[in-house]
Amino acid sequence: MRIDIVSLFPEFVTQVAGHGVVGRAQERGLLALHGWNPRDHAEGNYRRVDDRPFGGGPGMVMLIDPLRACLAAARAADPAPAKVIYLSPQGMPLTQAKVRELAGEPRFILLCGRYEGIDERLVAAEVDEELSIGDYVLSGGELAAAVVVDAVARLQEGALNDAESAAQDSFAADGLLDCPHYTRPVEHELGTVPEVLMSGNHAGIARWRRQQALGRTWQRRPELLDEAALSAADRKLLEA
Ligand code: SAM
Repeated sequence: MRIDIVSLFPEFVTQVAGHGVVGRAQERGLLALHGWNPRDHAEGNYRRVDDRPFGGGPGMVMLIDPLRACLAAARAADPAPAKVIYLSPQGMPLTQAKVRELAGEPRFILLCGRYEGIDERLVAAEVDEELSIGDYVLSGGELAAAVVVDAVARLQEGALNDAESAAQDSFAADGLLDCPHYTRPVEHELGTVPEVLMSGNHAGIARWRRQQALGRTWQRRPELLDEAALSAADRKLLEA
């Protein structure tokens, strides 16, 4: 898949996303990231990309034309149609379900704001959807774009060495939180690894993990259980 990042600091996203799973996804040809800077499409000696807000008040607003030209260049770089997603604290919250949906797209463009944001006319004309990574305000959309890129990259088939790990993660298809994990040593001053995990009894291990996932979800995020895919056995465990 291809993701284009339109930002005043596109390398911020491409560099952050150059490590670990995302880096590997790129090396394996599963993901191509392309950065685009509206400043390269701005005119005049100062290549201005922002101006003062009409009506007064603090801060600056990103200009329409450099962004519009930049988006047009990004779109034209590949024949596949691409929707434009504006990272914004006012957008719909990013969820794993949304990540799964995006991971199935051949291509999309992430638009990062700075300052007070982007002239609303550009948003109305060019943006297909707005996504927020949480109810707080960042200085720019780049960190949010990196979050989207990372979450989407790890769902590309072949990006993870063990595809099962994504299926077991929190918010996967069953909608539960993940179970706890342990590694060596078995005995440590901080505690002992639960015995069942060393039993070699795969059914027992699977049952223990499911119990833990259900218990954690119930304790930490009970609202997730309303939408979770639960079996009759799961419901029995929760009622116990
Ligand atoms: N004045 C805007 C508001 O209150 O809605 C906030 C502008 S913010 C300082 C600058 C840019 O950071 C935004 O245009 C957006 O791209 C990005 N941003 C900030 N918080 C974000 C969040 N929670 N999720 C996604 N992007 C965010």
